[in-house]
Amino acid sequence: METGHWYRAGRLPYCDDERPNLITHIATTPAPQADCTMTAPIQEALAAKNLLPREHYLDRGYVDAEIIVQSAREHQIEVVGPVITDPAWQAHTPGGLSVAQFVLDWEAQQAICPQGVSSQSWSPARDRYGNEMIVIQFPRVACRACDERANCTKAKHGARTLSVRPRAHHEAIQMTRSHQQTGAFRKKYRRRAGVEGSFSQANRRCDLRHARYIGLAKVWLQHLITAIALNLFRALAWLAEVPRAQTRTSAFAKLMGQLP
Ligand code: SF4
Repeated sequence: METGHWYRAGRLPYCDDERPNLITHIATTPAPQADCTMTAPIQEALAAKNLLPREHYLDRGYVDAEIIVQSAREHQIEVVGPVITDPAWQAHTPGGLSVAQFVLDWEAQQAICPQGVSSQSWSPARDRYGNEMIVIQFPRVACRACDERANCTKAKHGARTLSVRPRAHHEAIQMTRSHQQTGAFRKKYRRRAGVEGSFSQANRRCDLRHARYIGLAKVWLQHLITAIALNLFRALAWLAEVPRAQTRTSAFAKLMGQLP
């Protein structure tokens, strides 16, 4: 890796069980670029090549509400990946009243809190990144008299306020947060281990982590040649019916698995 020149390769292998896992796209960016900014461009590029997947397996850094909604709307892709958990203190405090426990009536533009109190205002706003938001305020009189106040708000004298994304985004994020707690999600998401396996193979065989050249275009070419080499290797292994490597289980995990 050249000092001061850091790059990242984005790769999307096909993961169907009966086919060779081939790398279908290379996206090389400067390393500081946020992962989630690349999901949409990668999907656009795959659409142009008629190689869109039905399900797009992504790690947490590549998934947010906008990605989930846009993938379904623009490309009919189901995003399979976890989103960040609710960062609000209420979601991480036993007994805390997080936004997931409020009922939102989108048509009436009203929210109902777990104590049955209706909101008094519902106002469109924007967050500091320019994203559309809705700020929902509950009546101060009801909140000040509420027995659950300590679990709901830290405002000394004010009322509970909720800030939520527009309906499609809010529902997508809530549904994903709930689904990612389930065993069914964890089982399905295991398939993504193949992506990490691709990186591992590329590092071991082709020294992917080291950029041999200076300049994004040349490093992209290095990544492209790496992907071609891996695809050839994978296609040959598939033709020869070489079994795929399994994800390694650490000694500690094996030991834990033996405990009653
Ligand atoms: S503090 Fe206000 S919003 Fe929270 S539960 Fe009580 S009445 Fe509802």
